[in-house]
Amino acid sequence: MLFGNINNTMLFSLISVFYMICFAIGFFARKKVKSVELTIFKGLILTNLISLIVEILLVILILNNSNFLNIMLRFFNVCIFSYVWFFGLYSYFVLKRSKELNSKSSLFVLYLIYYFVCCIGMMISKVELNPVDFMQYSKGPSVQVLFIAVGMIVMVTIMMLLINIKNIKKIKCTPIIMFVLFIGINAIIQFIWPHILLANSLFSFVTFLMYFTIENPDIKMVNQLELAKDQAEKANNAKTDFLSNMSHEIRTPLNAIVGFSQCIENATNLEEAKEDAKDIVMASNNLLDIVNGILDISKIEADKMEIVNTEYNLKEILDNLVKLIIPRIGEKDIELKTHFAEDLPEVLYGDSGKVKQIITNVLTNAAKYTEQGEINFKVNCVNEKDKCRLVISIRDTGRGIKTEQIDKLFNKFQRLDEDKNTTTEGTGLGLAITKRLVEMMGGKIVVQSEYGEGSTFTIYLTQEIRNGLYKKEEVIEEEISFDSKKVLLVDDNKLNIKVGTKILREYNLDITPCESGFECINKIENDNNYDIILLDIMMPKMSGVETLKRLKQIDGFDTPVIALTADAIQGRENKYLEVGFSGYLSKPIEHSELKKVLSKYLISVKKEEIEIFDEIKKDKKDIDYLKESGIDVDSSLELLGDMETYNETLKDFLTECETRLPKMKEHLSNNDSNNYAILSHALKSDSKYLGFKKLAELSLDHELKGKENDLEYIKENSNELMDEAEKIINIIKNYLGDE
Ligand code: ADP
Repeated sequence: MLFGNINNTMLFSLISVFYMICFAIGFFARKKVKSVELTIFKGLILTNLISLIVEILLVILILNNSNFLNIMLRFFNVCIFSYVWFFGLYSYFVLKRSKELNSKSSLFVLYLIYYFVCCIGMMISKVELNPVDFMQYSKGPSVQVLFIAVGMIVMVTIMMLLINIKNIKKIKCTPIIMFVLFIGINAIIQFIWPHILLANSLFSFVTFLMYFTIENPDIKMVNQLELAKDQAEKANNAKTDFLSNMSHEIRTPLNAIVGFSQCIENATNLEEAKEDAKDIVMASNNLLDIVNGILDISKIEADKMEIVNTEYNLKEILDNLVKLIIPRIGEKDIELKTHFAEDLPEVLYGDSGKVKQIITNVLTNAAKYTEQGEINFKVNCVNEKDKCRLVISIRDTGRGIKTEQIDKLFNKFQRLDEDKNTTTEGTGLGLAITKRLVEMMGGKIVVQSEYGEGSTFTIYLTQEIRNGLYKKEEVIEEEISFDSKKVLLVDDNKLNIKVGTKILREYNLDITPCESGFECINKIENDNNYDIILLDIMMPKMSGVETLKRLKQIDGFDTPVIALTADAIQGRENKYLEVGFSGYLSKPIEHSELKKVLSKYLISVKKEEIEIFDEIKKDKKDIDYLKESGIDVDSSLELLGDMETYNETLKDFLTECETRLPKMKEHLSNNDSNNYAILSHALKSDSKYLGFKKLAELSLDHELKGKENDLEYIKENSNELMDEAEKIINIIKNYLGDE
């Protein structure tokens, strides 16, 4: 081995050591996965770095003629050999393409023994310096052991490369080939220019090159993968939890539905069947609540729950919630106290549906988990400019929650106090949904509870304040009938058709069921006179949306089409309106929603009908009144044609009478029989036209007497005429006043 003076040898070594230190810091600072390859690589970096440092130390020791020089020369040989030894290990590992390095395998043990034997050989063998010109050679048995030991490893490596010649193009073989090449180049250089010491610097270069070929997965990616694995495991566990929870929760109401349905099938008594049907409705609603809860939580977790903001009146919602909760309290000895702040704004802007859902969940729990005492439902607010900070508090004197369980309260499927809960229905989803909804709306929910004493749930929500008055939604009266309006009900599911038909029949509609989009199009092409189409969205072959598209292409098609779907996501309605549906109904169909939709699309026709019907009804009632009052309306109508003209003529008659009757009295007092006769004639004519038979007779009488100038008779009987006229005026006023 050779060491030059500080001018030449140190130059390469200093550059290499600086470079390798930077590289080592960079490499070790990064998080790494554990792998055999990386462990060997670490060995290579360290041995190379140590060799470089020892090389620099040696030059210093040579210059200072130190006593440690001898031992340091031997150690330097060990360092060089260590690097080559690690490289040999690496080559074996790569060329054998093994993933694991079996540290107990006899080959490895042998290789390890080889290492120690060689190292001991180098350490105990002699080494000396041979100064030539300005250069120092290290020579002697220790150096020879090093050459032989390195030579053996290089030869084995070359053999392994030749055996695996097929894989030689692989990127991982590049550093091995470079290593073999560099060892050869180094030997030649040292032979020609012994003062240039390159071995360690070349090793540094190979080490650096290896960095790009070893498998060094990005730790961030590994972390992400681990996280993903964790999440997948959690999701899998959640699925298992979900199935075990749900199979029980869903089976309970289903059991009731199947059981009671069988009872109805075999029922002989209608009353009994009706009772069973009520239980079926109740169990179905429970089932629907469960399914909605599951859908809600999965929508929230899939980030698909949307906030749908509209203007709403909170007070109205609160009043309705109170009405809804009273039946839940039932016969329990619970007093429901409410306090809604006076300054709750008339119009708020936010997701009223979710506000309702949040309060309902907490309020329902208060009713469910309280046996006696009181439920105190308070809503206060702090109004600042256009923001209304709502503080909704629901306090109960129920069973309370143990302090250590409060943390679990908002976990999904988490029901506390399982032993007490066996008789109270629930899924453990309500509060999980509530908390997520509150958070989605930027609010928070806080619980205080004392076990055995009661709980207080406080919800903080901020909503926007809108100016103006809230327009109440039109309430559709209970009794509604859409006589003989034609409905085309399209659904591929026979059961849905059956249920839909039953519900629609309650409104006296003429229903045509139809089981596919094709059939629907056919029906419209042959007979386009339906008043409304209820069209299912999810149908095989031709979806509701596709069916609608084709319907719209039919000439003259303008029937309102309502989307029927089980996809009951808030805000979904807009999606259907956008594709051209007139409205949207979610399945199972709710009576109130159906009523709203039917009224909206059949209402214009209905209104006209009602108006006509009301006219007829009113007219009938009034004609009866007139007839009962002795007025011959029928003959008058024969003359005047219709009620409208009749009514108008009555009004004219009244106006005439206002001047005519006083004038008649005046003429009489002036003994002006002539003019009196003229006015009597007019009164007679009008009375005849309008069916005032008696008044017509009397005024004829007075007309004749007036013409005869029989003032005495007239004066004697004028009261009778005037009384009859007054009577008729009153009847007319009564009649017209009713209008
Ligand atoms: P569910 O009521 O369907 O079981 P929730 O998520 O609404 O599900 O409630 C979870 C659990 O929290 C309930 O099972 C009950 O044990 C407990 N809990 C909720 N509200 C109250 C309350 N007001 N008082 C006592 N316990 C309650």
